[in-house]
Amino acid sequence: MPNIVKDIVDSAAAIGKGLTITWQNMMRPTVTENYPDEPVHFEDRFRGTHILRRDENGLEKCVACFLCAAACPANCIYIEAAENTADHRISAAERYAKVYNIDYNRCIFCGYCVEACPCDAITHGQGFEIAAYDTNALVWRKEHLLEPTMHKPDPQGAPPRIPPSQKPEIKTTTIVGY
Ligand code: SF4
Ligand code: SF4
Repeated sequence: MPNIVKDIVDSAAAIGKGLTITWQNMMRPTVTENYPDEPVHFEDRFRGTHILRRDENGLEKCVACFLCAAACPANCIYIEAAENTADHRISAAERYAKVYNIDYNRCIFCGYCVEACPCDAITHGQGFEIAAYDTNALVWRKEHLLEPTMHKPDPQGAPPRIPPSQKPEIKTTTIVGY
């Protein structure tokens, strides 16, 4: 019998606690994003489209080590490496990514590539408007991902959006990870 009374009291306390939280939230102002009429407010940890970063000298941080491609569970990163030369230096290391593609048909925005990168060369931005009618347009190439030079990233950390109509024709249809 004492157990039944205790169960009833515990249940009532749990319901009361839950309802308190419900009432507290009902009294708070409603937060509604008026997208697309107003900018979207992102949480800091939001994972949007990727950005290939540059160092303080404007060189590309990516050294074509392939670790991001190896870590990607969706196998959607394709990289081709090339050697830097004295008169053609792209990154500060021996190699740079001549080709760097991310296939957003397959990317699940897990962030493993960002965690795997030893150079902080790839990060998530806050871009999210990537819907397209043509799946080829979802294969983003290095020129779409690379942080612009001589240009401060916008406050949201996203590279300038290139409308699909202005993107160069993409002939590759199959992306094979490393
Ligand atoms: S976020 Fe995940 S799925 Fe997308 S490219 Fe990076 S590792 Fe691959
Ligand atoms: S983005 Fe980072 S992990 Fe990926 S190839 Fe470049 S340096 Fe290596």
